[in-house]
Amino acid sequence: MNAGLSLSGRTRLTAIFGDPVEHSLSPAMHNRAYATLGMDRAYVAFRVAPADLPAAVRAIPPLGILGVNLTVPHKEAAVALMDTLSAEAQLLGAINCVVNRDGRLHGDNTDARGLEQDLREAGLDLAGKRALIIGAGGAAASAILAVIRLGAEAIALCNRTLGRAQELARRFEHYVGDARRATRLEVAGLQALTIPATWASCALVINATSLGLGGDPFPPLAYEATPSDCCFYDLIYARAPTPFLAPALAMGRVARDGAGMLANQGALAFELFNGIAPPRGLMRATLMAALGRST
Ligand code: NDP
Repeated sequence: MNAGLSLSGRTRLTAIFGDPVEHSLSPAMHNRAYATLGMDRAYVAFRVAPADLPAAVRAIPPLGILGVNLTVPHKEAAVALMDTLSAEAQLLGAINCVVNRDGRLHGDNTDARGLEQDLREAGLDLAGKRALIIGAGGAAASAILAVIRLGAEAIALCNRTLGRAQELARRFEHYVGDARRATRLEVAGLQALTIPATWASCALVINATSLGLGGDPFPPLAYEATPSDCCFYDLIYARAPTPFLAPALAMGRVARDGAGMLANQGALAFELFNGIAPPRGLMRATLMAALGRST
C-alpha cells in the first residue's frame, strides 16, 4: 500500500496517537500522499494509553515530529497539554491535531471543517432548515458547528445523558456561524427519537454516537416520519451500510457515512503538518480503496 515510500536519515515523522489505533486508515492516506509527492516524510500510528498521553505529547518537540493526529480517547484530554489553541479547538473543547510550531505545541480541530466540506459536497442546503443530531460527545460538538455554519435554523440535540447535551448546547449559546443568524438548539433525551414530531421537518439527521460501531443494532427510530428528501449521515464509517443508515437506505432516503468527513479532516491535517496544499483527491481515493469503494 505504501509503495514508493522510503525512509532516510532525514525522514521527518507525522503520526496518530490513539488507543486502540491499529484500525486507523490515516497512515495509508498520509503515506500515499508523501510517496506520490516524493516527500521524505512518514506517518505512523502509536498506541498511547490514556495515562501515557502527557509523556507522549511532551516527546513531540524533542523527536522533531511535525504534527500528530489524535483519536479516541485523547481528543479532550490533550487540550490542557497545548501551548496554544485555535479558536475552533477552544469552542469544541477537543483537538484532533497537534502542530509542532518550533517546539511549541498548537492544538487545532479539523473534524467540523471536514464534516462541513462533506455536507457541502453532498449538495446539502440547510439555510432556514432543521437538523437532528444524536449524541453529545466530541463528534456531536463538531457536527453542531458544521450544521450551524451551513445556516440551519434549528438543531434538535438528543442524547442518552440529558445533562451532557444541555452542557454542549450551552457552549454554542453565543456562537453565530457564517450565516450571521443564531441557530436555535433544542435539547432532549433519546426518548424523543420515538416521537414522529421530532423527525417531521428535518432536512438532515446525524448519528454522532458510537452506537452501531462493531455492527451493534440501532434502536428503532421513526425514520418514516422524515421528509422524503431528508439526508441521513452517520459519522461512523464502514465497508457496509452502518446499522443507522441501513433502514434509511431501505426507505430510499439519501444516506452518507463518515468516510468523506475522515478524508477531509485528514487532508486539512496534512496541510497543517506540512505547510503545503494536500493532494485531496489522492487521499480520498486511498481511503475509499481501503474501504473497498470506488469513490
Ligand atoms: P464520545 O465517547 O465522546 O461520545 C459517545 C456518544 O455516544 C455519547 O453521546 C454517548 O452518550 C453515546 N452513546 C454511546 N453508547 C451509547 C448507547 N449504548 N446508547 C446511546 N448512546 C450511546 O465519542 P465521540 O463523540 O468522540 O465519537 C462518536 C462517534 O463518532 C464515534 O463512533 C467515532 O468513530 C465517530 N467519529 C467519526 C469521525 C469521522 O471522521 N468520520 C470523527 C470523529 C468521530 P452518553 O453521553 O449518554 O454517554
